[in-house]
Amino acid sequence: MKARNKKTPPFPARSILFWILGFILIVSLYSKMGDNGPVKNLDYSDFKAKVAAGDILSAQIGSQTITGKMKNGDKEASYSTLKVEDNTLVPDLTAAKVAFKGQEDRSWIYSLLMNIGWIFLFVFAWWFLFIRPQRNDGRSALNFAKSKAVLQDPSKQEITFKDVAGCDEAKEEMQDIIKFLRDPRKFQKLGAKLPKGILLYGAPGTGKTLLAKAVAGEAKVAFFSASASEFVEMFVGVGAARVRDLFNNAKKNAPAIIFIDELDAVGRRRFAGIGGGHDEREQTLNQLLIELDGFESKQGIILMGSTNRPDVLDPALTRPGRFDRHVNVPSPDMKGRKEILEVHARKVKMGEDVNLEVIAKSTPGFVGADLANVINEAAILAARKDKPAVETSDIEEAVERVMAGPQRKSRVISDKEKKVIAAHEAGHTIVAKRSKYSDPVHKVSIIPRGPALGYTMQLPLEDKYLTTKSEILDKLVILLGGRAAEEILFDEITTGAHDDLSRATAYARKMVAELGMSAKLGPISVQTDESEVFLGRDISRHKNYSEELAREIDSEVSMLVKDSYRKAKDILLSNKAELQTLIDRLLEKEVVEAKEINEILHIEEPSKEEPKKEEKVEEVKEVPSKTEKENN
Ligand code: ADP
Ligand code: ZN
Repeated sequence: MKARNKKTPPFPARSILFWILGFILIVSLYSKMGDNGPVKNLDYSDFKAKVAAGDILSAQIGSQTITGKMKNGDKEASYSTLKVEDNTLVPDLTAAKVAFKGQEDRSWIYSLLMNIGWIFLFVFAWWFLFIRPQRNDGRSALNFAKSKAVLQDPSKQEITFKDVAGCDEAKEEMQDIIKFLRDPRKFQKLGAKLPKGILLYGAPGTGKTLLAKAVAGEAKVAFFSASASEFVEMFVGVGAARVRDLFNNAKKNAPAIIFIDELDAVGRRRFAGIGGGHDEREQTLNQLLIELDGFESKQGIILMGSTNRPDVLDPALTRPGRFDRHVNVPSPDMKGRKEILEVHARKVKMGEDVNLEVIAKSTPGFVGADLANVINEAAILAARKDKPAVETSDIEEAVERVMAGPQRKSRVISDKEKKVIAAHEAGHTIVAKRSKYSDPVHKVSIIPRGPALGYTMQLPLEDKYLTTKSEILDKLVILLGGRAAEEILFDEITTGAHDDLSRATAYARKMVAELGMSAKLGPISVQTDESEVFLGRDISRHKNYSEELAREIDSEVSMLVKDSYRKAKDILLSNKAELQTLIDRLLEKEVVEAKEINEILHIEEPSKEEPKKEEKVEEVKEVPSKTEKENN
């Protein structure tokens, strides 16, 4: 299905050229040997004999050799002989009436040039005949500046949306792109502008490449894919040239999709770290930005990039007019995993008894690539045992193999851990729902994402510029709800709440020391934020408040946190049945949406609480005021 980009037509003229060149080569070699046929090498004694016999016609005497013409039957021939020390040579030649003269030695530069000239000629001919034709195929080893992008032939496109499962939202996001690629002119007529660049982000193996290919497949357009890491070569300038080449190629094949994998390899923030960036990477990134700015999406080219680290990308890349649409390709939930298994099970012979839903339940944390791997391994295992079809036992064994295997990049979660994570997240959610001033809960999930083992997603109803004391206090309680639930249900606490605790403590400190929200200390604001101290500027900065005040702040902070924890626990204890229901639901489905949470808590949702559409990039960043992502 992957076809190399073959654009060079078969070229019969080239083989004709080959023969002409070869002919010229042979002729010129021949003529170099002498004007009259090959040179005869004579022993010196033969030479002297021929002189005496009158067969030598002429002689050029150099320091090492004597060359000239001699009789050969009734024709003339060239001869050459190595000179020896011989005092009678000149008298003998004179006596035989041979025309002779001395000859300058050829300077070494001359002979060097002669030889190099030949080498050049050969190299040129070789390049012309064998290297150059392959350049267009992108196969030559000397082909630095050409992008190695692979073109997928639209007519042979096999991957479509039915091969991609478990990411319905991402597929939905692609619909208008597909419509556009199918008929760019319709959009042009209306003057509609589409995003030029779409950034797919998500954990490795969640199907970002697959999704991009499927978009090309659905739209039946050419698909160029390149990995950003191959733009970053050892030679400066090569990457930039490749980017240029890639875009030129795509333009010729428009409408088309250009897919750049591992975008973070070139797109990392510039000037990061001491000593500046990587020169080559920067050049390549600049070239990419130039190309991005240089084409209009109406030309029918859509750029797609993928990364698992959207947070490290250079902001220049994600600016409007560049990779300005961000689409999350999430790790699949249980339903998604079942669908992905179904996609891959189509390709092998499955036994009647196999229940993919059960398999999906037993593979939390698996991404699409893992699941594809499971089915493949199971098929191999079944074949090894000469079974007619894949059985449940094969799949179970395959799951274990994949779980232990080196290819698995995502993390494995044990049943016990899953229960703790579910309790923790349910704790956050219940507390949030029962707090008066909290943002609406959008969904709660125990699917790992980034460093978080699970998350409770809250979305504000509107942008806020001022936050009230009550809101911050509720935030504290919600943050501590995770740990409180662990304690209530397991009588044991885990390390998972570390991030919650440090954030809660930071909020509390800010309230007391900076926002003047402590009744005991009153409206004071002192500088406590140590991250503001710049190295080299203020290393020995003193606190601008007394030790006594510091102690008071500390005790207020600690009181505030303890108080909030107690509140969280109280809320959970008076909602224990609901907490348990939510935990069970989470263990069963892994993601529970707002509507269902409300049902569990018997809340009549007013329609205005419909949360805003997710802000795509914000979601992965740690932006507490907008989106609450809880580290388990
Ligand atoms: P990524 O680009 O996100 O790292 P890939 O698209 O390369 O992941 O996925 C690798 C393989 O895993 C795919 O070729 C496909 O077989 C399988 N796969 C991954 N995600 C899915 C999915 N959502 N649906 C079906 N198969 C998937
Ligand atoms: Zn938490």
